[in-house]
Amino acid sequence: MAKAFKARGIVVLMLESAIETGKRLAHQHLIDGSSGNLSFRHGLKITITKTGVMLDSLKPDDFVEVELGKRDPKASSDLAVHQQIYDETDYNAVIHCHGAYNVALSFVEDEIVPIDLEGTIFLKRIRFIEGRFGSEELAERIAKEIKEIGFAVVRGHGIYTAGRNFDEALKLAGFVEHSCKVYYLTKLFSLLGRLR
Ligand SMILES: [Zn+2]
Repeated sequence: MAKAFKARGIVVLMLESAIETGKRLAHQHLIDGSSGNLSFRHGLKITITKTGVMLDSLKPDDFVEVELGKRDPKASSDLAVHQQIYDETDYNAVIHCHGAYNVALSFVEDEIVPIDLEGTIFLKRIRFIEGRFGSEELAERIAKEIKEIGFAVVRGHGIYTAGRNFDEALKLAGFVEHSCKVYYLTKLFSLLGRLR
């Protein structure tokens, strides 16, 4: 009984952290409108945002609990990706967000090597992967990338990150978008310099 009570307490804390993470994603310009999704693992279940909810103003009702490996039509359309990540890794929190700079760069590059300090330390390289949205192949590709380096960036779409908690996953998403922004601006400035 005490064990079940403690487990429920962890779910409440993770839910609070998920709601806070939604606000921070909006603050960091990593989501817009009802884009993006979040989930966390607890025991043999995951709790994930429902489809179409606004991440910047999440309420407990905006989440649905799904058993590991199962599907639920109320859940985010990215549920299969989250399930695949939990299946292949020990991470407990997963974030999917967008961010203009990584999406823009993904159209012109296959891979970049970050030039800012944090990027060179924590990311090493950012590869833009491809696949049809909603397909099993893409879910597998994203999970494989996350297993290897903790994050994945899908061409024309955005970032997936995972961590032991939401703070870790959010930090990584911020690093990816910041590195892409610095890379993009540096490239732009060098091109403008050549025009002068
Ligand atoms: Zn998306």
